[in-house]
Amino acid sequence: MTSNEIKSLTGQYVMGTYGRFPVVIDHGEGAKLYDPEGNEYIDFTSGIGVTCLGYGNDAWVDAIAKQAKKLSHVSNLFYTEGPALLAQKLCERSGESCVFFANGGGEANEGMIKLARKYSFDKYGAGRSTIITLKNSFHGRTITTLKATGQDVFHNFFFPFTEGFRYAAANDWASLEEVLGDDVCAIMVEMVQGEGGVLPLEYDYVQKLKALCDEKDLLLLADEVQTGIGRTGKLFAFQQYDVLPDVVSFAKGIAGGLPMSGIMANEKCKAVLGPGTHATTFGGNPIAAAAALVVQDALNDEFLAEVTAKGEYLRSKIEEMNLPCFGKTRGMGLMIGIEVAEGYNKGDILNQLMANGLLVLTAGPGMRLLPPLAITYEEMDKGLAIMKKTLS
Ligand SMILES: *Cc1c(COP(=O)(O)O)cnc(C)c1O
Repeated sequence: MTSNEIKSLTGQYVMGTYGRFPVVIDHGEGAKLYDPEGNEYIDFTSGIGVTCLGYGNDAWVDAIAKQAKKLSHVSNLFYTEGPALLAQKLCERSGESCVFFANGGGEANEGMIKLARKYSFDKYGAGRSTIITLKNSFHGRTITTLKATGQDVFHNFFFPFTEGFRYAAANDWASLEEVLGDDVCAIMVEMVQGEGGVLPLEYDYVQKLKALCDEKDLLLLADEVQTGIGRTGKLFAFQQYDVLPDVVSFAKGIAGGLPMSGIMANEKCKAVLGPGTHATTFGGNPIAAAAALVVQDALNDEFLAEVTAKGEYLRSKIEEMNLPCFGKTRGMGLMIGIEVAEGYNKGDILNQLMANGLLVLTAGPGMRLLPPLAITYEEMDKGLAIMKKTLS
């Protein structure tokens, strides 16, 4: 089918919940994507931080094909090998103690919220169920995770929302103290706010959060749906802050492009969700697990050091260009935010880059780059050249 045919069929039959870019993607290779007419795009988006190994990675494709032939799905009523190996790997590499597998980021965060509330209920009884999240955060699109999201624009239409969330300004201790209380059971944060505009938490703030949580027996919940799986140059962003959260959610990059998510919990929280308290039909799907094991193999220490180096390279090259429409860059690893200068529109910038063959994202008031972690210097240079030519 042609791009126009696909767009018109989508418009007719697919629910219009997305403001889509006017581009149809047909196939990909490395960090390059192609439309049905063969036009090439350098991809600085990786499907919003998902396709960490790029497109068509041989080991990833082979593992999926092999597993699909062997066993596709049996439900969690039975044991299977892949999820067990993956859980072991994630625990060994993170310092956490156990894993629950789910399918998407919002769903993983639901599990994390359930765990926090049950931990507190088991130990202290009812009435200690409030979770503090941060202003400008993003935690998902379910009724509960919308309410967990600290942005008023998300608290609309779908009333009544789940009760039990209060919001503190990030990196602001006084603001946190204002919303603390005897009804609080947990504090939930993104180490680097993604959708909110690529805003990293300060090292000292996270250290203080962890100490406070330990002192008051609150759970520190890390939403690593976007920051996890190597995005910041460590397997998990909390490893940049030298803390071990009580519970961590992950999703986007975990299986390199197949739907999978999960939560990891520490020893203290290991037994909270016992039989009958939490489940999901597709969680720990063997094909997704096989794909995720390839991702884990790829993301060794050397690869993660490269993510940091590539992030620094991209940021320094962009700052060197001194483009009139851009201000400062910020971020961690290959999670990069770029300020948009006054008088320029982020949507216009995105559209102009796309028309010239470079795909980027926006977040908060600025631009956001989330290239595949496996992007090559050649591909980055090609994208940078398009940026320079388009925006100078
Ligand atoms: C993307 C994202 C989510 C939601 O994940 P879905 O898979 O879309 O449900 C939650 N939290 C953060 C930090 C995210 O970036």
